[in-house]
Amino acid sequence: MENKSPFWISKKLDELTLEEWESLCDGCGICCLYKLEDEETREIYYTNVACRLLDPKTCRCTNYEHRTEVVPTCLRLTPELTPQLKWLPETCAYRRIWERKPLFGWHPLLSKNPDTVHLAHASVLGKTIPEISINLNDLEEFIIDWVEVNNP
Ligand code: SF4
Ligand code: SF4
Repeated sequence: MENKSPFWISKKLDELTLEEWESLCDGCGICCLYKLEDEETREIYYTNVACRLLDPKTCRCTNYEHRTEVVPTCLRLTPELTPQLKWLPETCAYRRIWERKPLFGWHPLLSKNPDTVHLAHASVLGKTIPEISINLNDLEEFIIDWVEVNNP
């Protein structure tokens, strides 16, 4: 019998085509925020300071193709890395698929509308400040509590 389930349910992350993989990103922009890690507890703290390549009006990377060359600390997400990245937000579709959790109704793959992630206030739209506007040594002052992560 033909499998009618959508690819994000029927396939594992490492079985996705490149197009399927890219479409899983909901465009929230959360992973493009600066994070701090407590060296002792390993807890992750998100800040509202955005990477310099993040467009605050669209929450998209302005140089996605060359992002890791322009921003060496930018991580290219892969199926192998996904389970190791404890800082991926609870809402991140890659994390949710890995954890066998359903996508939220606002995910563009379900809503067929790329703006629903913003309408649901699940993105960083309107919530960030650019990294060039602060001294990165002061990151602790910009810690936020609206991103849920899998802290130890
Ligand atoms: S947190 Fe996940 S879904 Fe959101 S922009 Fe980053 S990779 Fe995409
Ligand atoms: S380079 Fe682009 S994808 Fe990477 S963190 Fe910055 S804005 Fe996000």
